Amino acid sequence: MNDLPARIRACRLCAPRFAATATGHAPRPVPWFRPGARVLIAGQAPGARVHASGRPFTDPSGDRLRDWLGIGEDVFYDLDRVAVVPMAFCFPGYDAHGSDLPPPPVCAQTWHLQVMEAMGPMDLVVLVGGHAHRWHLGSRAPVTATVSAWRDHAPAIFPLPHPSWRNTGWIRKNPWFETDLLPALRARVREVLT
Ligand code: SF4
Repeated sequence: MNDLPARIRACRLCAPRFAATATGHAPRPVPWFRPGARVLIAGQAPGARVHASGRPFTDPSGDRLRDWLGIGEDVFYDLDRVAVVPMAFCFPGYDAHGSDLPPPPVCAQTWHLQVMEAMGPMDLVVLVGGHAHRWHLGSRAPVTATVSAWRDHAPAIFPLPHPSWRNTGWIRKNPWFETDLLPALRARVREVLT
């Protein structure tokens, strides 16, 4: 892999962009992958808590995502089983409304294909949020349309909404997500990891 995680950890391409945000933070890339993992979590970008911890999904979104997958932290953070490769490896900062800024496109343009090639084929790809849908599926469709068509991609790929608390209303409005999609996803995770 030519020490790809170390090269990503050393990346500072977005330093000027992050310095100009309200938080004025420096890049802290959080790569979390190793060839041999069977499940890929293709996320969006670290939030502020992950920026502080240096581990992916160490926040309430991560708790909800693990519940969706039906696995605990012991499995989720096992690099031999699960890889977490977001569309940007650093916390992008906040917008004027206090929401996370979108992942800087330069990150996926610089790193994502290299990581995918280094990882090789995965048994299960979980796409978390619209940015990952767009890169991995080439889809411009709205998130709801893509997630509701999950059977078109399963069992190899499951498109999901972002597990942020901001999507709690979305989950309530789309009950099929919990009654139909999540049981199929958990069954696939069990199948791949056991
Ligand atoms: S977001 Fe990606 S491209 Fe930007 S500094 Fe972090 S690792 Fe580098």
